[in-house]
Amino acid sequence: MTLRLYNTLSGQTDPVEPADGDTLRMYACGPTVYDYGHIGNFRTFLQVDILRRFLHLEGVKVRHVMNITDVDDKIIRNAAAAGVPIGEYTPRYTQAFLDDLDSLQIERPEILTRATEHIAQMVELVQRLAAVGAAYKTEDGSWYFRLAAFPEYGKLSKKDLEGMTDGARVDVDEYEKDSARDFALWKATKPGETSWDTAIGTGRPGWHLECSAMAMEYLGESFDLHAGGEDLMFPHHENEIAQSEAVTQKPLARHWFHVRFLLVDGRKMSKSEGNFFTPRDLLLKGYKASAIRLALISVPYRHQLNFTFEGLVEATAAIDRLRTLVTRLKAATLADGTTDAMQASADKAEAEYIAALENDLNTAEARAPIFDLVRATNSALDQGTILAGDRERVLAVLAKFDAVFAVIADHDAEPTRAALAWAEEQGLMDKVAPELLAAQGLSDEAIDALIAERNTARKQRNFRRSDEIRDELAARGIVIEDSKDGVRWKRK
Ligand code: AMP
Ligand code: ZN
Repeated sequence: MTLRLYNTLSGQTDPVEPADGDTLRMYACGPTVYDYGHIGNFRTFLQVDILRRFLHLEGVKVRHVMNITDVDDKIIRNAAAAGVPIGEYTPRYTQAFLDDLDSLQIERPEILTRATEHIAQMVELVQRLAAVGAAYKTEDGSWYFRLAAFPEYGKLSKKDLEGMTDGARVDVDEYEKDSARDFALWKATKPGETSWDTAIGTGRPGWHLECSAMAMEYLGESFDLHAGGEDLMFPHHENEIAQSEAVTQKPLARHWFHVRFLLVDGRKMSKSEGNFFTPRDLLLKGYKASAIRLALISVPYRHQLNFTFEGLVEATAAIDRLRTLVTRLKAATLADGTTDAMQASADKAEAEYIAALENDLNTAEARAPIFDLVRATNSALDQGTILAGDRERVLAVLAKFDAVFAVIADHDAEPTRAALAWAEEQGLMDKVAPELLAAQGLSDEAIDALIAERNTARKQRNFRRSDEIRDELAARGIVIEDSKDGVRWKRK
């Protein structure tokens, strides 16, 4: 059997195989680096990580390209508000994104490409589009895609756009219109905006153009799979298809993989709704990176997932059971040999686990047999009915689970440490859960920040919080002295 995935383009569950029989060539839309990513964004990147890890487990090589959108409407807006050029604004968020990938054990794509480093390829694509009559220039010097030149527009999202081409144009990067519009490929410079002097004029690329140009640069005109969150299906991916296929006359990607949203109280988690958490927020609340990862991947990509703190608690407990079993197995003194019962349990768990992932990456169904095996192994250990060969077999199945889920091997210390260092640097120590502080060494700055928070709490007559902070510091060997000159502290 091989992996089958739902394909938005065909509307069916299709086998996923490299066209060249060797390496699966895939493109995943990356982040827009105007701010920190939230866990909704990371749900999408995590599900793509599950896909690439499972392909590896099945012996398929992967060439995975991801863009970093480092020029777009939101970046220009935020950089202007911060009073810096976009080239100074985006690097810290690009780095934060990469650090968050590492925290969540998301493997880096083979190729990460920045939009601003591929302006030449984008300009060339506009020129090729113009040559086939699919792009035109407006009076202000912007370039638009001529929708009428691509009758297949709408084939991905299956929106019924027949007769809806209203001849109007849209120049913002993100829009949700039912009517199809000629969209901006290249935007003429506005005063104060970053721009490039090019053969098609002075301006900057539109967001959609970036992905087409970079995907084709690194994967060729036609590749195996294109991934992104469900919101990108229209218009972003529809536009990518139009821009590419109008020129190449070849399918941009054969398979389109869309990850359904992470919701909060039934609404999409998003920056604009203000209902979001970043991985850093959750780490500072004391949740482990592995729990965040497991909570976000345990519901298959085809289903929306409602984010809850109970989900994180459940994931924490589940990981604990897995890690405890591994420790227990490794420590057990077992006689040589194997038992039929344990070998059968392990074989069954492995077969069901692989089958569930091959069946449209059903992570929920893939988890279940692994936890059955955990239960069976624990009771065999209790009853002394497990031998050394069984241990090896169970550990091998758990290793296959971890090759994709990546939660058993414990990498939790570093993300938490990094989040605390970041909170300190950003002056966000008040966001840190007391239990987490208790588990970490406190710096002078962190203590000052807590004392300042205690002062505020006392002024607001929030004595519960002020006592909590005092107790917390006391537990860490920090003594507070209230005097008429204010609060002093010393280490015991
Ligand atoms: P952005 O940085 O906004 O371009 O988004 C990066 C990725 O996150 C895209 O693939 C989006 O589709 C995806 N995304 C945004 N919000 C959510 C959400 N609430 N749940 C899942 N994926 C999301
Ligand atoms: Zn894209």
